[in-house]
Amino acid sequence: MTFQDHNTSTGHLLIFLEDWLVTLDMLLFFILGLFVHFVFFGSIFDIYFTSPLVHGMTPQFTPLPPPAKRLVLFVADGLRADTLYELDENGNSRAPFIRNIIMHEGSWGLSHTRVPTESRPGHVALIAGFYEDVSAVAKGWKENPVEFDSLINESKYTWSWGSPDILTMFAKGAYGDHVFTYTYDADSEDFGAHDVTKLDTWVFDKVKEFFHAARNNQSLFSKLNEEKIVFFLHLLGIDTNGHAHRPSSREYKDNIKLVDAGMKEMVSILEHFYGNDGKTAFIFTSDHGMTDWGSHGAGHPSETLTPFVTWGAGIKYPQKVSAQKFDDAFLKEWRLESWKRQDIHQADIAPLMASLIGVPFPLNSVGILPVDYLNNTDLFKAESMFTNAIQILEQFKVKMTQKKEVTLPFLFIPFKLLPESKQLNIVRKARSYIKQRKYDEAVSLCKELIHLALKGLSYYHTYDRFFLAINVVLGFLGWTSYAFLLIIKSHFNLTRGVNKEVKKPSHLLSCSCIAIGVFVAFFLLLQDCPWTYYIYCLLPVPIWYAVLREFQVIQDFVTLLLTVPPSYFVGYLLVFILGIEILVLSFFYRYMLTAGLLAFAGWPFITQLWTRAKSISLSWIFFSLLLAAFPLMPVVGRKPDIFLVMGAGLLVLLLSLCVLTSLIKRKDSFINEELLLHLFQMLSVVLSMCVTYSTHSSLRKKQGLPLLNQIISWLILAFSLVLPLLSPTSLFERLFSILLSLMSTYILLSTGYEALFPLVLSCLMFVWIQVEQETLQQRGISCKQKVTSVRFTCSTDITQFRQLYLDDVRRAFFLVFFLVTAFFGTGNIASVNSFDLASVYCFLTVFSPFMMGALMMWKILIPFVLVMCAFEAVQLTTQLSSKSLFLMVLVISDIMALHFFFLVKDYGSWLDIGTSISHYVIVMSMTIVLVFLNGLAHLLTTKKLRLCGKPKSHLI
Ligand SMILES: [Zn+2]
Ligand SMILES: [Zn+2]
Repeated sequence: MTFQDHNTSTGHLLIFLEDWLVTLDMLLFFILGLFVHFVFFGSIFDIYFTSPLVHGMTPQFTPLPPPAKRLVLFVADGLRADTLYELDENGNSRAPFIRNIIMHEGSWGLSHTRVPTESRPGHVALIAGFYEDVSAVAKGWKENPVEFDSLINESKYTWSWGSPDILTMFAKGAYGDHVFTYTYDADSEDFGAHDVTKLDTWVFDKVKEFFHAARNNQSLFSKLNEEKIVFFLHLLGIDTNGHAHRPSSREYKDNIKLVDAGMKEMVSILEHFYGNDGKTAFIFTSDHGMTDWGSHGAGHPSETLTPFVTWGAGIKYPQKVSAQKFDDAFLKEWRLESWKRQDIHQADIAPLMASLIGVPFPLNSVGILPVDYLNNTDLFKAESMFTNAIQILEQFKVKMTQKKEVTLPFLFIPFKLLPESKQLNIVRKARSYIKQRKYDEAVSLCKELIHLALKGLSYYHTYDRFFLAINVVLGFLGWTSYAFLLIIKSHFNLTRGVNKEVKKPSHLLSCSCIAIGVFVAFFLLLQDCPWTYYIYCLLPVPIWYAVLREFQVIQDFVTLLLTVPPSYFVGYLLVFILGIEILVLSFFYRYMLTAGLLAFAGWPFITQLWTRAKSISLSWIFFSLLLAAFPLMPVVGRKPDIFLVMGAGLLVLLLSLCVLTSLIKRKDSFINEELLLHLFQMLSVVLSMCVTYSTHSSLRKKQGLPLLNQIISWLILAFSLVLPLLSPTSLFERLFSILLSLMSTYILLSTGYEALFPLVLSCLMFVWIQVEQETLQQRGISCKQKVTSVRFTCSTDITQFRQLYLDDVRRAFFLVFFLVTAFFGTGNIASVNSFDLASVYCFLTVFSPFMMGALMMWKILIPFVLVMCAFEAVQLTTQLSSKSLFLMVLVISDIMALHFFFLVKDYGSWLDIGTSISHYVIVMSMTIVLVFLNGLAHLLTTKKLRLCGKPKSHLI
């Protein structure tokens, strides 16, 4: 140690810190990198996915007698609005009972749901009045991520019948034992397997039994005659039929008829039980719709438009109107033009139900009471609306107080549109309007207050977002610069000879970094921040310390840059930025890959490659253009075409014949065993073609998968990993052998055009190797060997540490681009998630998620392996060290990750949200995946197995 004279403890600490940082080797760097990326990943859950719910509000209810004593809620799961309202081919309604209600008894409209259009968020919006937050993404999908209040919890008693998934959700959140659920057993799998309408008839039967039994059960009878009670009938049949047969099917439509008839019966039983006392309110709706192809979750109108029909106590009778203005043409289609349609948002149903039976509005509800549905005095409407406004204002106040408490007073920026004075003002004014019987004015003033309070709620909900995002971005930039500096430091001989006495960074830097760290920690401590905030805010400090202490390197690099003509510099920078943006965009639009490949095709013209090597350039252009066609085709599995798979197999055979003849011609000593190996591999390609063909034709005839085919498939898969290791290690022969083996497996896993993809990709890769050899010669670097004579060897990497050139950056970029192409060339993330069963039919036909997942994974990996093996060859011929390559890929992928950090979505369907998160994860883990892929490629290309253990003399 050279700093022994500093005896103070801080001195020791600093020395230790410096030493530690100086001896930071690749392993530490790797671990550190992992940690940093975990933090970056975790940060999105604190920034984007936090629960908006607050607790601690007081319940609010209207101080007037409610119109209804009890409420019946029918939810037909997965029912589309149009299928219910429209008339069938003969002009008859599928739901005559509901249509009769619309025309003679109640009010109707469309309920607009929000994405994700799933059962759980739909029911939460209906019954609890808020749109479920995406923090559910972070905290698991099934359990209640947060405690919430609901209509069912506020009711005196609730009886519910239906699916266990939905009912238990609200029973769990309710306090006390006033919620009774009756569910069928979720585990008994064949329940309703043949006829899912049983799910609905079960509910109707149980309700019938229930009311029958109630007549002889004194305690139940008295409970049923209480006020503020709810009956909730959850009907799952329509959703299940829709998934199984699609909404246009006979089954789906017949199920609607069944539900309609069942409801008619239920209503008459109830009215009979209560002696037609006119104190029952009815609501019929659904949690979400369904697409034409039988799915839901996203934001298509067929999924977000659900029916809403209500009648009974407190509800307006049908209103005849002469003309109604709506953007859509539904009214005409459904022949309902003359009955007033009133659309609502799904969460508005909760306050409506609460005001009908006179219970407090659910505490977290953000619904706005649809007063136009109410058949009541103007005073009641105004008072209810006032209650609604106060209830939402309460949430706003609690949220603001919470934020204010944890923020330093001088840093707190309140929501400007709704200061305390304004709140008081509006509330006072609304009260006085009600006193003066100016009810309409009161209602509109309350609506204004609600809108402001809702805006304020979202303002405070995203209050920390900006601050946290800045810290994460600082960390990202610091980390990327650090990786960049490492590349410069170890590979450019910038500083060589400039100054031998390495300047130790001044203690000023370390001291100020520690001071900043302490200051930040103290600042966070004062604000009572969660522990994760400390990590996000403190992490940039050591990272930037590590960057700034390399001040000398930065200075040298800048001096070097200044010697470059500015136009060059700006040009290169622009090309780099453009390249990165194309990569980022290709995650969303596959055709961007086509654009990139077209640019690649034009690349030889810019360099001198065209003049030097015409034939190589031409084949580069040809294969780039050919590969560019793939991202334009539909994703895998949409159009199965077995003949394209056969075509791919034939092309492989043709190619291997050409290679074989050229090899025999070139080498007099072409050894029998190698010839045998080649022939064996060609045979396996032929076999896999036969197996694929016969399997698909036998499945088409519904004869199942022949056992022989299955055995051969697995054998080919097993051999494909071993056979390349038997081939000679000379560059082309080994690569070709790998291609043949992987292609035979890929053909087995293909159903259409994608079988051609690895073939075209590897052709381009072969040309790439040649091209890189050419560019190297262009630079005047002597090339010791011709490509054809290069052999893969185990110790390729450590040999020479040569300087890095700009070309190496391009090579790294090409690699990343080809890897992205290998991934998105034939599909997108969504198509990866959805298993296309047809592609594993040659291996198994029984449903086994794990095995199928593994096979699909291998299918996705094959193009990657081909690219990596080719790159192994490029690395070998250009003598680029793996370390610097990984660092360059790290820089590229982190710049991309920063893009995706801002593109994380906290709204939309689960699929949208999940996809945005997986984009972020994919680019961040790119480097790690690359390390493993590189290892695999290294093994595949350099390892040589010998049969029978006898050494071969020719292999030296
Ligand atoms: Zn549902
Ligand atoms: Zn469903």
